[in-house]
Amino acid sequence: MQLAVFGGTFDPPHNGHLALCLYARELLALNRLVISVSNNPLKESPRSSDRDRVQMAELLAETVNRTGAIAEVCSWEVNRAYPSYTIDLVTYLEEIYSSSNITLLIGEDNYRSFRHWKSWEELIRRCNIVVFGRETVDGAGAEAASLEKLHEQKFHRIDFNLPLSSTDIRDRIASDQDCSQQIPETIWRYIVDEGLYRSTEE
Ligand code: ATP
Repeated sequence: MQLAVFGGTFDPPHNGHLALCLYARELLALNRLVISVSNNPLKESPRSSDRDRVQMAELLAETVNRTGAIAEVCSWEVNRAYPSYTIDLVTYLEEIYSSSNITLLIGEDNYRSFRHWKSWEELIRRCNIVVFGRETVDGAGAEAASLEKLHEQKFHRIDFNLPLSSTDIRDRIASDQDCSQQIPETIWRYIVDEGLYRSTEE
């Protein structure tokens, strides 16, 4: 089974996340895609609640599944009382899916900080890692690039150039702009109905 994991804060999910899931499904011939909602210990706290982010991730999964059902949402990370790390998630998923060949899907920015992840060397041993290029990240960082060279069998790169980020979307919504073209329709409706991201204050 080709099982891939796509982790993120999804605050909110946007068309970049959707496109990445669809690309991964087609290019990697995935059987199952686990969208894991997390609280990234290397990032600021999310603006919307865990509950809202899980609901929006469910809507993302539904959108992916309209054209080929592979996606499901995992809220194991946000349900833990303490910060979770990808290595813990991988251990959990290996156990529940009896799978030992998990593929991690990550964007370029996450790849750049990969050496700061807990047990990153073990992650390389246990997983395949697919990196999606991101136009907002400049040039090829020497340190990160060397990881791909050192572990050619484990890293795979997909050329990807969608200039979308949750940060931009949150800022645009806070200044009353319409983001319906950057977010899957059902998620945009959820954001409007729940009044999310309307103010820049916590
Ligand atoms: P933020 O702007 O708050 O940092 P984000 O847009 O990066 O959010 P996350 O939920 O943190 O969204 O992203 C989850 C994963 O998706 C990360 O691995 C991130 O690198 C990747 N990702 C998000 N948007 C893109 C994009 N436009 N191109 C490539 N990868 C992306």
